[in-house]
Amino acid sequence: QERVQEKIDYVFKVVVIGDSAVGKTQLLSRFTKNEFCFDSKSTIGVEFQTRSVTINGKVIKAQIWDTAGQERYRAVTSAYYRGALGAMLVYDITKRPTFDHVARWVEELRAHADNSIVIMLIGNKADLEDQRAVPTEDAVEFAEEQCLFFSEASALSGDNVDKAFFRLLEEINGVVS
Ligand code: GDP
Repeated sequence: QERVQEKIDYVFKVVVIGDSAVGKTQLLSRFTKNEFCFDSKSTIGVEFQTRSVTINGKVIKAQIWDTAGQERYRAVTSAYYRGALGAMLVYDITKRPTFDHVARWVEELRAHADNSIVIMLIGNKADLEDQRAVPTEDAVEFAEEQCLFFSEASALSGDNVDKAFFRLLEEINGVVS
């Protein structure tokens, strides 16, 4: 099948970070393929996925990088952050420690990524409200303190996933243009 080659105005590199098993890979596949895969880790070895979107009349190719499990060994390298304009920092609303570690991830970003990087904090698995361990207000407060954007989302239901990625890409677009 032939497709008309689209004109791309910008490529934005976005990294997805956060503790293991918070749903990073699933958020990425929800945004780039509108898929949720119960038998996870199909993307191992794949460095990034892309999706092109139009923002303010510009075609933006979002190149979204997955840690592919490196975070388990705290081995996310500075190469991973290099050139990143945005970061999705993910925790799991049902696992308090994953939220408690968010501050460390912010430090890691501040140490390795560009100063102007736009950071979006994501409380994933919002579909599991009955197992909630992180009150929304705690995340709102942290995000305000640290000047991060914030949203809860669910890779499983798809709730707020596009919205959060679009918000991040719009903010990056505002920074670069
Ligand atoms: P990663 O290690 O951060 O990349 O996490 P994965 O994307 O591999 O997801 C870890 C586990 O959480 C898998 O069993 C997923 O099926 C599950 N998961 C991911 N996102 C969601 C979500 O939004 N809701 C629910 N209920 N489960 C999720």
